[in-house]
Amino acid sequence: MTHDDASAANGADDSAAGTPHADITLAQFQQLIRDMYLEKDLARGVDGTFMWLMEEVGELASCLRNGTHEERLGEFADVLAWLTTIANVVGVDLTEAVQRKYGVGCPGCGQIVCRCADAEKP
Ligand SMILES: [Zn+2]
Repeated sequence: MTHDDASAANGADDSAAGTPHADITLAQFQQLIRDMYLEKDLARGVDGTFMWLMEEVGELASCLRNGTHEERLGEFADVLAWLTTIANVVGVDLTEAVQRKYGVGCPGCGQIVCRCADAEKP
């Protein structure tokens, strides 16, 4: 399932989206997901939302094995959207999260090009 059960009305109301951003930051994407879905996402809650993320991860796995590039584009977007939804539901700012953990390089070794031993998870 994609994350857009309301999009059938696309173009039919004032809130319909316009031209896609040529570039979109993580913060803009998180706000976009918040604007589109927060009310529904809060009603569903974190547990139900997490299950949707897992379903999308499964679809991505299948797509990586057998999908076309076009299908992969869609599945990556869905996984990112559902991950972002969970962040919205629990009040996590993804930009802050990413900057804190990866903003200055690998969290394991502190380098921009990771030099952690291969057996280690960075
Ligand atoms: Zn490293």
